[in-house]
Amino acid sequence: MIYEDPLVPSTMQELQDMMAAHAGKFLLAAGGTDLFVKRRGGIGRGVILIDLSGIGDLRGISVRASDNCLEIGAMETMTSVSENPLVIRHARCLAEAASKVGSWQIRNRATIGGNTANASPAADTPSALASLGAEVILVSRGSERRIPAEDISKATGSSEIAPNEIISAFRIPLRENSVSAFGKIGLRSEVSIARLNLAVSAQVSDVMASQITNPRVFAGTLGIPARRCAIAEDVLVQNGFGACGEFCRALAELVDEAIPGRSTQAFKRSAIQALGEDVSSALLSRLKGAVM
Ligand SMILES: Cc1cc2nc3c(=O)[nH]c(=O)nc-3n(C[C@H](O)[C@H](O)[C@H](O)COP(=O)(O)OP(=O)(O)OC[C@H]3O[C@@H](n4cnc5c(N)ncnc54)[C@H](O)[C@@H]3O)c2cc1C
Repeated sequence: MIYEDPLVPSTMQELQDMMAAHAGKFLLAAGGTDLFVKRRGGIGRGVILIDLSGIGDLRGISVRASDNCLEIGAMETMTSVSENPLVIRHARCLAEAASKVGSWQIRNRATIGGNTANASPAADTPSALASLGAEVILVSRGSERRIPAEDISKATGSSEIAPNEIISAFRIPLRENSVSAFGKIGLRSEVSIARLNLAVSAQVSDVMASQITNPRVFAGTLGIPARRCAIAEDVLVQNGFGACGEFCRALAELVDEAIPGRSTQAFKRSAIQALGEDVSSALLSRLKGAVM
């Protein structure tokens, strides 16, 4: 139990009834790892907690053949996302991002839905979800809408999720011959919030020539949870994963555009280039693995 006497719905219908009955006076609780911290700062005291842990419909990881996508329930934990064979196979960068969140204790509680809903610019899974072209499924009473993962948060701590909505799941399109990788720099090697993260996915049209299409490059912790780098994507289309220097310079330009004049600009400028090298080298070795 996270707060005193939370309400614990066991179906989506019960949840929506509770949200309507307590409109404007409730907080949703998933794993509670962000809420605990907020509560220490006084946020959320005196409101009704609605604990999502009893709703089976918010869990599950499966391929939806009808929509050609991988669906991940919002209440799946970082541990289950990072270890799930379907995620590792179809959305490797997301499995890697989830595996790098906090400590194992945090990963056992922290959910993928909470990570997106919290809208922290330092969150790890939003950049991976954006690079995979994921959609966030938002449900409210009687309706459902979908938002691209990269559009869910455009400012620190604020999201497009309406007060009567809940994230029910994420849908990741299954793309043929796709590869992806995620990298993160934190203050320490473990249990650290990202100072910078980078997720890249692409489709490989010619493995031998390292020719790629539809690259999607997103960095986290540059003011918002997932910031796209179109110039780096152009470099990948023109040169594949081999032109590491140009790719890294494009990433450095993204830092200059995103956080000009900030005290962290110089650090992030050089850190993102190191991350760019790591991620490129992971992608190259995955390509080589594919032809062996
Ligand atoms: C020590 C520590 C280390 C951490 N390290 C990392 C890290 O390395 N990387 C990282 O990304 N994060 C990290 N975090 C942050 C946190 O663990 C994640 O953001 C986590 O994924 C949040 O999920 P949760 O289930 O705990 O959310 P909760 O704390 O339960 O909720 C967070 C917010 O999201 C809302 N919410 C939750 N689920 C939904 C939903 N389905 N629909 C709508 N709104 C919802 C809640 O109302 C709340 O406002 C760390 C936290 C701690 C305490």
